[in-house]
Amino acid sequence: MIDARVQEAALSLPGPPAYLYDLPALDGHVAAVRRALGPTELYYAVKANPDAELLRVLAGHVDGFEVSSAGEHAHVRGLFPGARLALGGPGKTDAELRLPHHRLHVESPNELRRLLDAGVRADVLLRLNPGLPVEGAALTMSGPFGMDEDDVARCLPLFGDRVRLRGLHAHLASGLAAGRLLGLAERLLAQPYEEVNLGGGMAVSYESPGSRFDWAAYGAGLAALGRGRRLRIEPGRALTVYCGYYVTKVVDVKRVRGRAYAILLGGTHHLRTPATKGHDQPLTVLPTGKGPALADEPVTFVGQLCTPKDVFAGNIVTSVAVGDTVVFEMAGAYAWNISHHDFLMHPKPAFHYLRA
Ligand SMILES: *Cc1c(COP(=O)(O)O)cnc(C)c1O
Repeated sequence: MIDARVQEAALSLPGPPAYLYDLPALDGHVAAVRRALGPTELYYAVKANPDAELLRVLAGHVDGFEVSSAGEHAHVRGLFPGARLALGGPGKTDAELRLPHHRLHVESPNELRRLLDAGVRADVLLRLNPGLPVEGAALTMSGPFGMDEDDVARCLPLFGDRVRLRGLHAHLASGLAAGRLLGLAERLLAQPYEEVNLGGGMAVSYESPGSRFDWAAYGAGLAALGRGRRLRIEPGRALTVYCGYYVTKVVDVKRVRGRAYAILLGGTHHLRTPATKGHDQPLTVLPTGKGPALADEPVTFVGQLCTPKDVFAGNIVTSVAVGDTVVFEMAGAYAWNISHHDFLMHPKPAFHYLRA
């Protein structure tokens, strides 16, 4: 359910579809995460949502930003010239390897050799692909990311004064609960590194937006495991997902071969998350419409794209009328910035910000 401030703002937005970001809510959430983490450093993974207004709020709380391309690097340095940046990502170019950083996450022995050849100074975390079992994850980061223990061992003798080994990096999976993440952290922290970045991937639930990752348990667990070592995490989704809303209106309702549909302005070219993850995007219908209606029945919410994949949510039992306002929640991460904006050439959404 959306709160009264968001509801009021959604109803007064000019010309939906539009994105609405609740900046005070983001500020409160990240402040609470920061408190729960105690001595563990918090970086924000910019790829989850690089919106400058969100980054300005985050910058007041985080210890740094994780960037994964020259583009993200330039964007964040442009906004916060002095911010600490951890630069990661598979397939870094020579130009990217030369970018100034606080930490560079090296993904392979060949990448490390290219870094040495570049003749620059670098502070490196080696990205381990730990091959640990991660059942229950939404997306595991096995595959091409990082390197196995043998390649980590091949890298170790290559370090020197200019290119320094600072520690280990491991982003294990996406969508893990605090207990599972702590179990994996314990296995990683059995290794003798003074500095370890444990990545992001904290679970969020699109089925029940109210159930949140247990930051208190994770923070306390990491503090106990760390024992004086420098630990860092770099969440994306679990920091920004809750502060974003996609607000739109119903243009048509109909029944096709027994199935009820509400057709909305916009579509998954603005909010791709439900199409990529295959979930129902949580939504609230605000009864602003006076047009033809569907009453208290399973309704599938679709957009304006000419593809059957343009589905926000399927068979949601509700009443809905033409002209109603529909507010999609949990649209603050991997939403607008992962969407295929130009498909069908509909107008782009406006962006609005709730401020304190
Ligand atoms: C994507 C990514 C993150 C953030 O993951 P979330 O699931 O959004 O928390 C952190 N670190 C790395 C290396 C990533 O690729």
